[in-house]
Amino acid sequence: MTSYQTEAIRYKAEYIWVDGTEPTPLLRSKTKILEAGQEPPLWGFDGSSTNQAPGDSSDCVLKPVYVCHDPIRGGDNKLVVCEVLTVDMEVHPSNTRAKCAATAEEYSAQKPLFGLEQEYTLFDGNKPLGWPDQGFPGPQGPYYCSVGANNVAGRKLVEEHLDACLAAGLAVSGINAEVMPGQWEFQVGPVGPLEVSDQLIIARWLLDRIAEEHGVSVSFASKPVKGDWNGAGCHTNFSTNAMRESFDKCVEACEALGEKADLHIANYGAGIEDRLTGLHETCSYKEFKYGVSDRGASIRIPWQVKQDGKGYIEDRRPNANCDPYKVTQLITETVCSKIG
Ligand code: ADP
Ligand code: MN
Ligand code: MN
Ligand code: MN
Ligand code: MN
Repeated sequence: MTSYQTEAIRYKAEYIWVDGTEPTPLLRSKTKILEAGQEPPLWGFDGSSTNQAPGDSSDCVLKPVYVCHDPIRGGDNKLVVCEVLTVDMEVHPSNTRAKCAATAEEYSAQKPLFGLEQEYTLFDGNKPLGWPDQGFPGPQGPYYCSVGANNVAGRKLVEEHLDACLAAGLAVSGINAEVMPGQWEFQVGPVGPLEVSDQLIIARWLLDRIAEEHGVSVSFASKPVKGDWNGAGCHTNFSTNAMRESFDKCVEACEALGEKADLHIANYGAGIEDRLTGLHETCSYKEFKYGVSDRGASIRIPWQVKQDGKGYIEDRRPNANCDPYKVTQLITETVCSKIG
């Protein structure tokens, strides 16, 4: 391929937004060429092609809200997360970030922090990466945090994605191979509710984009393979200033979450009933319980937190396909309005 040397007077801004696809929105993006030093301005798109507007009134507005370095294009190029507005500059119904921003602002004095564990499954055509053409791999057991070609697939892609996240300046905190072969996890955080959500959107987009280069697709489905195979979640670790000082406050946070369990389950991602069965390290969606070290609970209090007498809690319920703006908004509002 010919590589053209362009003068460094203009740069590429990749505008990324969440669309209106039901029940799980997709990420969309397109490129705008901007002058050197120019801030990304408002832009528009065809909402009739993204389930966000009817054809006879199709324009929607992209409002840049989070900008970082583009590690794929390099140079001065940028990735730009956008909120979707209507042409009247109102919050579009598909835009869940605006409410998250308001809640983050309202409770900013409590300094809420989130760490999200994004699980996902790599697919080679219609089977998970590394699975045999016929039948199934051996049962779960050796794959979690494994090493060696007999147990792990996709590491080159996964490492590239981690490097891209770091180069973009995201607050990633780790990666690991998961319990089901072909399934992986990366973690973002701990940072505030809005930051962690914006960064998760960038990290998901980078994963989709880098997987393209490998001819592999990424599934965020919460139960990508039926049967005796783990689903994919987005464990949501959470703390406030008070929780980082007191074990009792961590317990109070669990109690507060218990009072809103049904609301939260309804907003933690499509198909959550298929994943939260009570098996495969989950608690049934019909139940709510919390406990120290309990991976069969809705909320786990890590043993280290018990040991230290302070720290954070892990809401194990959100799906891999969850909307991070909804999840962090609900947890922040539920806990911060209660524990003060
Ligand atoms: P697990 O043992 O559940 O697999 P991980 O190491 O994958 O745990 O993820 C733990 C997450 O918790 C990380 O994203 C980390 O940044 C986050 N975390 C650590 N301390 C806090 C805290 N005080 N508040 C919120 N999140 C935290
Ligand atoms: Mn983890
Ligand atoms: Mn995991
Ligand atoms: Mn898991
Ligand atoms: Mn976890």
